[in-house]
Amino acid sequence: MRQDNIVEKTVRYLFERGFIIHRLRRDLIKAEQRSLKVSVWFSEKDYLDWYDPLNLIDEFQLNDVQALIIVAPRAYSIADEVLHSLDRARYWYDLFIDVKIYSVDIAMLEKCLEESVNSLMTTFIDLVINIVEDGGRCPRCLSNMYVLYIGKFHSNILKSKVIEKIYRCPNCGLRIHRTMKIENLHDAR
Ligand SMILES: [Zn+2]
Repeated sequence: MRQDNIVEKTVRYLFERGFIIHRLRRDLIKAEQRSLKVSVWFSEKDYLDWYDPLNLIDEFQLNDVQALIIVAPRAYSIADEVLHSLDRARYWYDLFIDVKIYSVDIAMLEKCLEESVNSLMTTFIDLVINIVEDGGRCPRCLSNMYVLYIGKFHSNILKSKVIEKIYRCPNCGLRIHRTMKIENLHDAR
């Protein structure tokens, strides 16, 4: 797949998942939803070009986002380098950059992207809350859970329109992400 197609597919998907997209550079976009901000880097290389972690932080605006999604042919190995670089920032500059890193391998772009976004939204549920609804009993501690996010999108994994719900337990902190095919919801009626 060509780089432009990969960027376009990713942008379209993130938009469908409710993000506002800012195209910052040819290889970098910023995606925002409510208070959640994410940098998405489309790397054509499988290594970092620089050694000083300040470059990395600067290049991807890591001071201003909660997560970095790396979309690349060998995304996992770049993610590793990025994590090492952020460790170095701690040793060298006493700088603690708290970002979650997600790797999206372009060979499985659609599936990896969807899994990353599911995980991202669930991890940062507090930043994207769009509803507060009873979510039943927590399977871990039996307290009352809440549904804090409801979305609708076309799932690349389930090959269907789905409703997603994200639950969180205020007592033990358990988070659950669920997707349900919309056609099944109709069948149930
Ligand atoms: Zn619980």
